Amino acid sequence: MADQWNNLRDARFLLDQDTRPLNPVPPVILTTPAAMRRWRSANSGSVGFVPTMGYLHEGHMDLVRRSIDENLLTVVSIFVNPTQFAPDEDFSRYPRDEVRDLAQLSAAGVDAVYLPGATDMYPEGYQTYVEVEQVTRPLEGARRPGHFRGVTTVVLKLFNAVGPDRAYFGRKDAQQLRVIQRMVQDLDLGLEVVPCDIVRETDGLAMSSRNVYLSPEQRTAATVLKRALDDTRRRWAEGERDADTLRAAVSRLIDAEPLAELDYVSLADDESLQELEGTAVRPAILSMVVKFGKTRLLDNIELA
Ligand code: AMP
Repeated sequence: MADQWNNLRDARFLLDQDTRPLNPVPPVILTTPAAMRRWRSANSGSVGFVPTMGYLHEGHMDLVRRSIDENLLTVVSIFVNPTQFAPDEDFSRYPRDEVRDLAQLSAAGVDAVYLPGATDMYPEGYQTYVEVEQVTRPLEGARRPGHFRGVTTVVLKLFNAVGPDRAYFGRKDAQQLRVIQRMVQDLDLGLEVVPCDIVRETDGLAMSSRNVYLSPEQRTAATVLKRALDDTRRRWAEGERDADTLRAAVSRLIDAEPLAELDYVSLADDESLQELEGTAVRPAILSMVVKFGKTRLLDNIELA
């Protein structure tokens, strides 16, 4: 059965000249938690799940392809989750393009797309939230109060509706990944969290839906993040372990770029995300947020 199914799926990758699949099987689109759960109950076999906020790029599609490779069925959700945005953040202007997203997911061979509406997820009277404690406190948690409470709540709700065996998350959002791993472990969710490497543009900028906010000048200047990470990797490889020295080197490189404003640079324990002082012990993670105008770009490198 699995072999038969794999052959069918491989056939979808045989593209014609218009790069349309020869035998497309469009994904089922589910728009409510109840419909999603019914689809899951009606379909047996391993389910891989990729939660997204849409406006898909190659970073998302890499997660999708990995899920398709590793599972019998793949579900992708698209939901711009209002509860993880603070009132002064970019919820209303977050980029959206459902038609293009669905075309990409269909061409990739995704089985189901979960597209719940905000009132399906948070109907009137909604009042339940999930909080992961220590690991949500530093870094993004300190700058974006309530952000991870929104993330964990929506991800748990998505997991409950989709019922995945494996869920795919990008290493780009390193703290989010650790927060979800903690929640899955602490709440005995019994699914596997699969971390996926950061996908970058050819000039090194980490792909992000928010890159579209950058002006051409800011887009060019944004390569400074990758240059700072490469510089960190080189220093680490040469044996530099002093936390202040490693953070200061990043700070200097970012400060030298006139359009960039360093929000923070962190060298932290790779698992707990506690900030390191003195000599770094392996493994560590160097992460940073750099602002270009109002746009915050997040990037990191794991040092092991
Ligand atoms: P988002 O739509 O920004 O919520 O991202 C959905 C998922 O895609 C998250 O697990 C992200 O970490 C992951 N992701 C976003 N950008 C990238 C990237 N450049 N490389 C790898 N994963 C990514």
